[in-house]
Amino acid sequence: MPSETLQGVVLRHANYRDRDRMLTLLTPDRGRVDVLARGCRKPKSPLMPAAEVFVHGEFVLFRQNDRFTLTSCALTDTFYPLRLDAYRLTCATYLLNLAQTAAQPEQPAEGLYALLLKGLYHLAYCEEEPPLAVTNAFLLLYAAEIGYKPRLNHCARCREPIAPESGARLDIEAGGLCCNRCALGEQYPLTSTQVAWMRQTLRDGFDTPLTVADVSLFEAMRRYVESRLETTVKSSRFLP
Ligand SMILES: [Zn+2]
Repeated sequence: MPSETLQGVVLRHANYRDRDRMLTLLTPDRGRVDVLARGCRKPKSPLMPAAEVFVHGEFVLFRQNDRFTLTSCALTDTFYPLRLDAYRLTCATYLLNLAQTAAQPEQPAEGLYALLLKGLYHLAYCEEEPPLAVTNAFLLLYAAEIGYKPRLNHCARCREPIAPESGARLDIEAGGLCCNRCALGEQYPLTSTQVAWMRQTLRDGFDTPLTVADVSLFEAMRRYVESRLETTVKSSRFLP
């Protein structure tokens, strides 16, 4: 029987017919996978708990030609606390949308999958961390994951080293930081504290203390990422 078991996270759903739902999953093995959850909106359907965004679990799929149908799901986490805080929910939805934009069908996405789970975990369970700081860290690590790690140590235009105590500008077109002498094009001024935190985050990932919840850094990183993706991610209009 053409059955397949995949780890995954539900990125989005769309109601279909009276009782069905199409789910979009991010999986480490097959990237983005669209799955029909048949009957999941019927009362008492065993598939109902799995057919929600943020659900993380092990999905058993039936494959026919190129279409997948959900057979069952063993839930690992639903990130339930996200539902209790509108702002955390907005940030988490933005993370899902970013993951969906980058993921492709049949292209393994182990790094993106691990990054998304970490981001959702911090947003749902780490109450002491400001949601925008988690989102800022995610944006930076996401840029690196999709192949656009911003250059942070040398000016992206004149190649001079950027000293630890000096601020810089995030230069969207040049793909990294520029020194304060190289003012050109679309640039976002950043403080030395912000620059130091970005360097630490690229090195240590989510082990970095998630403290920099600055709107200015968010705006700079959002613009940087959206320019690399060549699209705007709709849910970001509710942020910061
Ligand atoms: Zn320069």
